[in-house]
Amino acid sequence: MFLTTHAAAGVLISHYVKNPYEVFGLAFASHFVLDFIPHGDESLYHDDEWKILKKFKWPIIINLFDLAGLLAVIFYAINHPGDTTGRLMLVGIIGSILPDFLSYLFPVLHEKMSWLFLMRWLYKLTKPTGLRYLIRAQNWIHNLLHHEIIRRDIPFWAGLATQLGLIAVFMYFSR
Ligand SMILES: [Zn+2]
Repeated sequence: MFLTTHAAAGVLISHYVKNPYEVFGLAFASHFVLDFIPHGDESLYHDDEWKILKKFKWPIIINLFDLAGLLAVIFYAINHPGDTTGRLMLVGIIGSILPDFLSYLFPVLHEKMSWLFLMRWLYKLTKPTGLRYLIRAQNWIHNLLHHEIIRRDIPFWAGLATQLGLIAVFMYFSR
């Protein structure tokens, strides 16, 4: 699912919940609930065909649009009148997109940047703190909801329409 959709849910949560820890926890949980809704990207990423055939064009274009959407939501939070509201929104946004960061972005960063001392040190640090096992558990749940339960995804355009609808509803009720 798009990061923009998740971030919009984070903003919505921060609109109704005022404790930052609760906002973070609920936003984090909202990620899994939303991923549970079929959202049309299964064939885009998960059949691995695009990696083998090196068809990077669509995944890159879609991710760029998604990134632009995410930045727009972050900008909205930063420029929101009343700084505490804006800060709570940012907490919501971070919590809501964190599962994708942990499951998809961090493993790639770790693989590609293991030459960097800081990266190795950060990774090492996850073991004694127990963080590594927590992350593995969250990856497992994340994966389970994506692949095991959503076996039949909807077409990409239907997923796009669903997500744009969700973003519109979330942002409307966050005003
Ligand atoms: Zn996800």
